[in-house]
Amino acid sequence: MELKLTPLFSAASIQQRVIELARRISDDFADRPLCLIAVLKGGVVFAADLMRELTIPVTLDFIRARSYDGANSTGQVKFTTMPTHPLAGQNILVVEDILDTGCTAVSIVERLRQENPASLAMCTLLDKPCRRKMPVNADYVGFTIDDLFVVGYGLDYEERGRELPDIHVLETRKA
Ligand code: 5GP
Ligand code: MG
Repeated sequence: MELKLTPLFSAASIQQRVIELARRISDDFADRPLCLIAVLKGGVVFAADLMRELTIPVTLDFIRARSYDGANSTGQVKFTTMPTHPLAGQNILVVEDILDTGCTAVSIVERLRQENPASLAMCTLLDKPCRRKMPVNADYVGFTIDDLFVVGYGLDYEERGRELPDIHVLETRKA
């Protein structure tokens, strides 16, 4: 089945915004070593672009959170990938594709806090504040969007569409 897509952000506009975010992050962490933790899988494309626009040295690691879905979405999260670096005393920047209800972000922050980092900040390419269920906000936000389901630039619909250079709205046709 073909995905019905409507363009939302072009690769060029994403690149421009990534450069702006990278400038702010480079300024904010100019005198502190920074450890990027990309959230698998969706945050990988953004993290790869962001780190190459930073003007400060960073390390890169990964985390993967799986929510138990099904009938009752209790917000229970299991970590199937954890960073391999020791994180105690580190300045961590979590790099996310999208902040939706905030359940995943809250679990990631809670889990990473247990490692006693020196600081913990969050950067998300996209933010849907209108969908928020948990009290969490990112320190760095690429674009704020309405209640739309988007794909491309790392974001998938059932594992499809991650490779698209632009971000698109997925049309959900009701039968
Ligand atoms: P949250 O826990 O904040 O509700 O959502 C976390 C995850 O839901 C995101 O990391 C992402 O995988 C998925 N998600 C939420 N909104 C969208 C969207 O618009 N498009 C895609 N592709 N995934 C989304
Ligand atoms: Mg996903």
